[in-house]
Amino acid sequence: MGVTIDLNAIRENKRRIEALGRPVFAVVKNNAYNLGMEPVVTTLYAEGVRHFMVTTLDEGSEVRVHAPEANVLVMNPVYEWSAVHRDGLDVAIGSYDWLVSQRHELDGVRLHLKLDVGMNRFGAKTFEEALAILAFCQDEKLNLVGLCTHFPLADADNAEIEHSVHVERFADWSTRLIERHSFEVVHAANSAATLQADPRLGHCTHVRVGIFLYGYSSVEAVDWLVPAFHWETEVVAVHDIEAGAHVGYGTGYTAPSKERIAVLSVGYGDGLMRARRHLSVHINGRAFPFVSNIFMSHSFLRVDETVQIGDRVELYGNETKIDDVTRTGHANNSEQLCARSWRVPHRFEGGILCTQATNPFA
Ligand SMILES: *Cc1c(COP(=O)(O)O)cnc(C)c1O
Repeated sequence: MGVTIDLNAIRENKRRIEALGRPVFAVVKNNAYNLGMEPVVTTLYAEGVRHFMVTTLDEGSEVRVHAPEANVLVMNPVYEWSAVHRDGLDVAIGSYDWLVSQRHELDGVRLHLKLDVGMNRFGAKTFEEALAILAFCQDEKLNLVGLCTHFPLADADNAEIEHSVHVERFADWSTRLIERHSFEVVHAANSAATLQADPRLGHCTHVRVGIFLYGYSSVEAVDWLVPAFHWETEVVAVHDIEAGAHVGYGTGYTAPSKERIAVLSVGYGDGLMRARRHLSVHINGRAFPFVSNIFMSHSFLRVDETVQIGDRVELYGNETKIDDVTRTGHANNSEQLCARSWRVPHRFEGGILCTQATNPFA
């Protein structure tokens, strides 16, 4: 009961992604998409992953503890340097001005030149700016090891042409930069872009994936991904109600006829997003719909006479996966993973440190 995080699934997804052709640069920001930094990083590191990406310095320091020999890239612009020097973190160059302003901290630091091809977040916005960054690094003998971008539209199903323009821009700028400098790593594709296997990204050394590692696709369903996140709860009460009766707060749901309602002791306060109610849950292999809203700590199902107090309810698992809910259009994958509260009892399966019955990460 509660949440199970299947580290074997993450291990398997890593292998299957790499079978497409490139090693994984693992994105483990936000506590590894809220699945747990230590178990996820430990698992991937044991599988041979040697590049990790996070957004903040604190996350970088945390990864360093569990992946002593790996390269750990911090994507946010850095202005506070003690953790970088202490933990040997890689840093992304956000702009030419940033580079010049931080020059006094950069000796020996492993730097990645980031190209902004359309997101307007961080990175060189023009080829000229990228060239100026490269020249500055070369003149100052800085340790420029990486070249990268992040595609804003790889997951968008209505913007293929615009995405293609971004890929073209990256391909053009990056091939010309590679002629002038030898980069140890070149990384661009997130999960969705990995699937596209665009030949214009043929010079990339790694795929920088997050959500695929955890078993979910933000675009079309990918049948070879193994979901790593399972959430079960149980029926805590059942009620046989008359036609016209309301359920839960407000009058949002009124029973059209006599019905049996099951109460679950889980709600949005536990991170069960209201978006989840658009698909049924499964009890003993049978589907039952939510009724009323999902409330802070409870939710309601319309069930039949077979359902009893104590029955197990699959909220997320093999019957309904995170990305099935995503495809209803009411929430995205990472959002559902990040929503889940650690208040919910949880355990890890398949960890190298796990003995069968115990969870060393609890
Ligand atoms: C989050 C993130 C990724 C991973 O994206 P997914 O769609 O989860 O694979 C890659 N690169 C950057 C810069 C990111 O912020």
